[in-house]
Amino acid sequence: MPPKRYAVPPPPDFESIEDAADHAAIIINALRRLASTEANSLADKLFACVDYQPCGSEACPVCVRSFRKRLHSGGVKAAPIGAGFLAMSLIPATCRVEVGQLSAVDLKTWVTSRQRAIARALPAEAMFFGGVDISLNTFNNADPHWCKHLYGYVILPPAFDIFKRSVRDGIRSALKRHCPLHNGASRSLLLSARDRATFNAKLLYAYKARFYRRSQYGEVKWKTGKRSTNVDGQSLRSAEVAELALFLDRFPLGSRLILKGLRRRGLRGGTGQFTLVREVNW
Ligand SMILES: [Zn+2]
Repeated sequence: MPPKRYAVPPPPDFESIEDAADHAAIIINALRRLASTEANSLADKLFACVDYQPCGSEACPVCVRSFRKRLHSGGVKAAPIGAGFLAMSLIPATCRVEVGQLSAVDLKTWVTSRQRAIARALPAEAMFFGGVDISLNTFNNADPHWCKHLYGYVILPPAFDIFKRSVRDGIRSALKRHCPLHNGASRSLLLSARDRATFNAKLLYAYKARFYRRSQYGEVKWKTGKRSTNVDGQSLRSAEVAELALFLDRFPLGSRLILKGLRRRGLRGGTGQFTLVREVNW
């Protein structure tokens, strides 16, 4: 008898179908407000998306939700027992896109090149499970621009002691070498050890359901006189929601995913069934 298929239940903070539908309504309104032929036709497509005939757009919160559900289940099942996890946040040198210019970005080519860079940087037996987050960044309410940011997990065999600083430093410097950082700044790369439970609960941070405005502002603490930078997350404005949706719609569902040592098996595009298959043997 073949092994019984089972799905891992989604994490507690997973969006409900109502959340996804509300999010879709916000995007549809933003597209209608833009009133271009292209925007109207995407709004029609998202509006017509139903369970039995999903639109399969990367811009559709309902389809992205189904994709994320499978991705979570696939990621939890594909990560081997005894693995070590390093959460990675990396802002690449090529992160910046001017507002209004997203349509000029070829996400597919960019993701492929970052995937190749990460694969070269990591040890052959390592796996990577990650994706691209896109935010609209401002500093002191000025200089708004889109930022493509990589987030994910490096999954390592037990032979790598992820709690050892030298192991993390080795991986950090290889990543820096192969995947140049924004402003060359070390703070553009964060790498920290996580346990299995945290990986299971938070692996979908690598493939976000929603995108935000990140307002950074400098502050001088009145008690200590120290300067610090704070980040405040806000909703995107209507024109930004529309620009991002039109951009994402040009690429198949799942286009933000970055994998190493793992492969998606199943229907391409659409929300069809897929599983994650391990390509490395420990
Ligand atoms: Zn859809």
